Amino acid sequence: MDQRLFYTSILLALVLLLLLCASVAMRSRKEIRKYVALLDLSLIPPMVGNMIIVGSSIRARSLIGCYSYFIGMDLVMFALVLFTNAYCRGVNSGSGKQHKPTLVYLLLLADAVQLCLNPIFGHAFSVESVEVQGRPYYRLVPGVGQIIHRVVDYLVAFAVILIFILAVIKTTRINRERYMVILVSIIVVAVWETFYIFSRTPIDRSMIGFGLIGISSFYFSIIYRPLRLLDRMLSDIASDLSQALFVFDPEGKCIWANQPGLRLAKVDADRLDGVNESLERTFGSLDREEKDWVQSIVIGFGDDASYFLLQRRSISDDRNRMAGSFLSVLDNTEEQQRIKRELYNSTHDSLTGMYTKQHFFEKVRQKIDAGDGRKYLAVFVDVKNFKIVNDIFGSDFGDKALQQLADHIRSFMTYRCVYGRLAGDTFGVFVPADEFDSAAIESSLAAFSVTDGVLEHHILVNLGVYEVTEPSLDVSVMFDRAHLALSVVGDEYKTHIAYYDSKLREMVMWDQQISASLHGAIESMQIMPYLQPIADSQGRVVGAEALARWIHPEHGFLPPYKFIPVFEKNGMILDVDRHMWRCACKILSQWQGSHDDMFISVNISPKDFYFTDVVEEITGLVREYGIRPEVLRVEITETVFMSDAVEKMNILARLREAGFVVEMDDFGSGYSSLSLLKDMPVDVLKIDMRFLSYTNDGGRAATIVKHIIQLSDDLGIDSLTEGVETGTQYEKLAEMGCKLFQGYYFAKPMPVSEFEGFAFGTDG
Ligand code: C2E
Ligand code: MG
Ligand code: MG
Repeated sequence: MDQRLFYTSILLALVLLLLLCASVAMRSRKEIRKYVALLDLSLIPPMVGNMIIVGSSIRARSLIGCYSYFIGMDLVMFALVLFTNAYCRGVNSGSGKQHKPTLVYLLLLADAVQLCLNPIFGHAFSVESVEVQGRPYYRLVPGVGQIIHRVVDYLVAFAVILIFILAVIKTTRINRERYMVILVSIIVVAVWETFYIFSRTPIDRSMIGFGLIGISSFYFSIIYRPLRLLDRMLSDIASDLSQALFVFDPEGKCIWANQPGLRLAKVDADRLDGVNESLERTFGSLDREEKDWVQSIVIGFGDDASYFLLQRRSISDDRNRMAGSFLSVLDNTEEQQRIKRELYNSTHDSLTGMYTKQHFFEKVRQKIDAGDGRKYLAVFVDVKNFKIVNDIFGSDFGDKALQQLADHIRSFMTYRCVYGRLAGDTFGVFVPADEFDSAAIESSLAAFSVTDGVLEHHILVNLGVYEVTEPSLDVSVMFDRAHLALSVVGDEYKTHIAYYDSKLREMVMWDQQISASLHGAIESMQIMPYLQPIADSQGRVVGAEALARWIHPEHGFLPPYKFIPVFEKNGMILDVDRHMWRCACKILSQWQGSHDDMFISVNISPKDFYFTDVVEEITGLVREYGIRPEVLRVEITETVFMSDAVEKMNILARLREAGFVVEMDDFGSGYSSLSLLKDMPVDVLKIDMRFLSYTNDGGRAATIVKHIIQLSDDLGIDSLTEGVETGTQYEKLAEMGCKLFQGYYFAKPMPVSEFEGFAFGTDG
């Protein structure tokens, strides 16, 4: 075949290909597209020039071909520099900043200009005719200009090659390919071109190489997807995964495992045969038949347990044939332990390590539902006055106290018991009735004290107990009942355990009900004073004691024992007493002028002294109602001296100084001792007959009363006997020297108007 024609056809094909590449490149979205297109298009003029040179047998045409070739080459170099800059940008200039190779462009422009001046000066080149395959062919005869042109182009090519070499060195191994191929093709072309120049062969075949540069640049910048890069990345990702990965061929043979996989299976990368056996040893036999599955497996027990999540996936090829499978094994142990820890923290109290209230209730419910046929007790454990322990000894000591109490509770527990911390200083215990040894617990609580190594302090711990008779009850209600039982444990240090029963429940409900309605009852005068006459030795009514009565809209007539003790306990007694004091003052003020000496005794509860300045309140009242203090007598009980006796004596002294008559109520009922009598700043001793007649030994009681009356007389204290029920009693007491008398023998407590009729002979 005609060599020249063959070569021309190849060039033509390349030109068409380059045109195609340029147009495809321009449709791409990549930023580099315009540089690729420019490079590909710039290659066309020198190629066409070459085609003309090769195909032409006419000198003028050959010359035109030469100009197109040489000047076109400058354009190619310009495009190549632009392309190279764009292509290697990411690698060579880490900062992404580009230095414009202006000098290179100027050099190329100058070269193109000097080539264009060749027709005038003839300095660059000319052509000479040689015969190739029997036809004239015009071969290049280079001049100085042509040498300059070559030097310039070589310099530029050299610079481009340098840039690519740098890129090849700097880039990652996986990316190297895309720089390497272009670099090699440029070098090949440069060598090819050099060979042409020095071999003086007539036809410059290196143009084919230029075409290939254009096409490869196009391919690597526009088409090429670094598949190997993806492969590598995916396998790197798989290797870096913390979970173990195994890849199996369709026959189930392991063909790849990542590092965690190799560690898990305890095999080397080149001994993958052992993988299946090793996995089965660890996890038992795994289902290989089913396509995809997920399985969680626990190995070991308790704190030593390991948790794994296994997942098998099969991989199909394009035609949906099974191509293999992979197994991932995630060691979930840490996560599971974290969950367990969180669960523990959410269900256990951090101070005592006991169950939290909510979790404790849940556990109790489970226990009840499991039903082991035993009787159970819900026990509410409470530290008495824990706030004071905290305040006095500090919260560190308080914490220690709670920890030690928790330990103390634990020491009584068997595996059948459930226990937890309900709130600050309260604990709950759910215990079989036959394991609750109340005597042992009583004695242990009596001796229970806590210490922080320096301080030792006895703490009073009380238990309220509810026997579970209705298992369907809400657990919180069971413990509410146990808590209720606590309300009947007194301040005494004798008993620490109180039991809930329905009577208690009613009592507590009663307490709540009347406490809630007290204020309304006072305002609407449901609570009012009844007056019980007090007589002198001649039987004349000289005064009265005001005793509270509650005419309840629902429950009818309520005597004091139905409500006074409740309010004594919860401190609301002051409201009742204030109301009674005011009523008494009002009555006295109404008697003024007509019955100036008639007095009324009012009761003052020991609790009142806690909550108010009694002296100030009472003096305020008599001032407000304009009455003399002597007619308002105040009754205090001896229990008042049980705490802060000195302070109480001061208060009583102040009351007496203010002009009030102070009476000691219920003398003989409690711990009163005669020795205390001499220090008591009281005016009247109220001796309650009922406390003395219990012995049935009338003679003995009479002797005691006689002596008390005598003693008080010696001390300058008047005596008043209350509970006088018979005329004989009255006479005897009068004989003994008693001055004042109160009792059913004279009259029972009665409404004010009735009293007025009784005492003054009026109808009120
Ligand atoms: P107290 O102050 O010792 O009142 C005397 C109680 O003895 C009254 O009972 C009275 O009805 C009763 N009594 C009087 N004479 C006889 C008698 O001959 N035989 C018998 N068996 N009992 C007699 P009451 O009114 O039920 O009051 C009981 C207690 O309630 C009072 O004892 C007092 O401690 C308290 N109380 C009553 N009203 C008030 C009040 O307004 N404030 C306070 N803090 N306590 C009050
Ligand atoms: Mg009284
Ligand atoms: Mg009394």
